[in-house]
This record gives sequence, structure tokens and C-alpha cells, in this order.
Amino acid sequence: MSLFRCCPSERKLTEFVESGAPRRVAKHLEKCPTCRAACERMRNDKRLLSELRAALDAGLDHAAREKILRLCERRSE
Ligand SMILES: [Zn+2]
Repeated sequence: MSLFRCCPSERKLTEFVESGAPRRVAKHLEKCPTCRAACERMRNDKRLLSELRAALDAGLDHAAREKILRLCERRSE
């Protein structure tokens, strides 16, 4: 599939999720559901990591532990 051949590398996609650049990745995402889904996954991972960091900062009580475990289970579905 020709669309696949011009997909940005995963590194480029990560860069885009982090910084919103380069612009041509944004253009590509408009046309490519595969890369859009990949970016969406990365955003979810980032959200998960920041929740995990917040929980660690707050000290891991039982409730936080349960929450993290639930998040991890949801991710592996
Ligand atoms: Zn693509």
C-alpha cells in the first residue's frame, strides 16, 4: 500500500506527539488512520505515565496501587 510507504517513522511520530512538530506529520495524520491510531496510543501512554508519576509522588497507598493496576490491565486488553 503506497500510503504505508510514506508513513513517518515511529521516532518521528513520538517527536510529533511530544512537540506537535514537524507540520508535515500533522498533514500525514489527516490522511492516515494507522498513524493517527499510533499517536493516540502514545498519548494514552503518556497520560498513563503521568498518572503513575503523580501517584508515586503522592506515595503509593493501597488505593493508588489498585488504580495503577487497573490502568495497566486496561492497557493490555
Ligand atoms: Zn501513516
